[in-house]
Amino acid sequence: MPIATVNPANGETLKTYEPMDEDELERRLELAEATFRTYRTTSFAERARLLTRAAELLDEDRREIGRVVTTEMGKPVRQARAEAAKCAKAMRWYAEHAERLLADEEPAESDVRDSGAARVRVRYRPLGPVLAVMPWNFPLWQVVRFAAPALMAGNVGLLKHASNVPQTALYLEDLFHRAGFPEGCFQTLLIGSGAVDDVLRDERVKAATLTGSEPAGRAVASTAGEMIKKTVLELGGSDPYIVMPSADLDRAAEVAVTARVQNNGQSCIAAKRFIVHTDVYDAFAEKFVAGMRALKVGDPLAEDTEIGPLASERGRDDLEELVDDARHGGATVLCGGERPDGPGWYYPPTVLSGITREMRVHREEAFGPVATLYRADDVDEAVLIANDSDFGLSSNVWTRDEAEVERFARDLEAGSVYVNGMTASHPAFPFGGVKRSGYGRELSGHGIREFCNITTVWQG
Ligand code: NDP
Repeated sequence: MPIATVNPANGETLKTYEPMDEDELERRLELAEATFRTYRTTSFAERARLLTRAAELLDEDRREIGRVVTTEMGKPVRQARAEAAKCAKAMRWYAEHAERLLADEEPAESDVRDSGAARVRVRYRPLGPVLAVMPWNFPLWQVVRFAAPALMAGNVGLLKHASNVPQTALYLEDLFHRAGFPEGCFQTLLIGSGAVDDVLRDERVKAATLTGSEPAGRAVASTAGEMIKKTVLELGGSDPYIVMPSADLDRAAEVAVTARVQNNGQSCIAAKRFIVHTDVYDAFAEKFVAGMRALKVGDPLAEDTEIGPLASERGRDDLEELVDDARHGGATVLCGGERPDGPGWYYPPTVLSGITREMRVHREEAFGPVATLYRADDVDEAVLIANDSDFGLSSNVWTRDEAEVERFARDLEAGSVYVNGMTASHPAFPFGGVKRSGYGRELSGHGIREFCNITTVWQG
């Protein structure tokens, strides 16, 4: 894939970049290693000062970078600005809390005595340069949720961003530089995916995190495994959204629309499979389809647009194939389902019912505004359908019955369970999945500790 900005709203190539050559890559890896040697000794207060400055700059740049993001990957510009604001918030959160999250721990006095020590501490030390392979769907957020904790922990970052968001990738390097981080603390590597393997094998790179597709995750994790390097993977999702009879149906249907189409439907934590109790199925379906139909699809730079184009032509083709496969398999198309004529990679909000296990859309991730509806007779069946997926990222449940809440919290195979609300990441809460959605956690104390050398300091 060429490294280029191609406007998804009209297919126009706006800017292309030459990938960095070997010499430039070598220079950057050298710089990362050299910078780490001194940066690792800086205080939390100093790192927090720099990260807070980065947050201020990002807030100031919100309008401008919002337009760049929209032009590169097509999300409605208001959502792009909101993404920038969310990044600034996460930076401030880590600036404020990292020192506490990484404070030395003291094991229980009895265990210390038992080991024959006078004192034992567990210390969180940084690992070194960490490679971040990131996707285009939240081109600021996916990077910042790695970079903010990594930089606060004393690591340095090397970003291999998706090839279709090079301007955003370069903006992020510039942002950290302007904030005053030493040169080499955060660098963007403009390279294609074929060059990732060599970077990962380089001994100066100590660990890697990847957000993206399963094949990309598998490739990076295999090499990292071979090299005995730690990885965190955040891959796809096909999150269930379960609606039980006690739910506030109006609210559940309204939130369902947002949960499905946020970011033009291209979100790993978007609700994708809507599993509705049979008692409220018809009522929910009617409200949900009406909400999906009412969405305003159009120019992503327009302030009132709710759905823009998909990020790439291939992405739209893939989505269309999933819908066609379901239609041929007997699914009913309740709305949408036909790509519009005209420029840009648009696909309409679509709802499918009558889904069977044989259909690809049941198994695969629908990365666009396509929802599938399922009917469940009771809690058991809802859990069964929800867990009948290779993915296990997040899950959503609508019920006012506490016993049902406990049941779902116990049995849903996912990294989080959101009750009476849609999944949304927050810097204070761990984020990540099970099954083929990946492993490890981002955000919160769990996220910042992923790339630390957890060191036992034993004193006799
Ligand atoms: P990819 O997984 O291909 O891209 C994500 C990142 O991984 C990009 O930086 C990409 O670089 C890089 N990459 C791709 N292949 C490799 C590889 N073999 N080794 C190392 N790095 C690699 O996602 P796509 O954009 O192709 O999207 C395909 C599907 O992935 C989507 O339909 C969706 O299902 C899922 N996805 C999930 C995301 C999530 O948030 N969890 C985000 C994006 C996609 P380059 O751009 O240069 O290829």
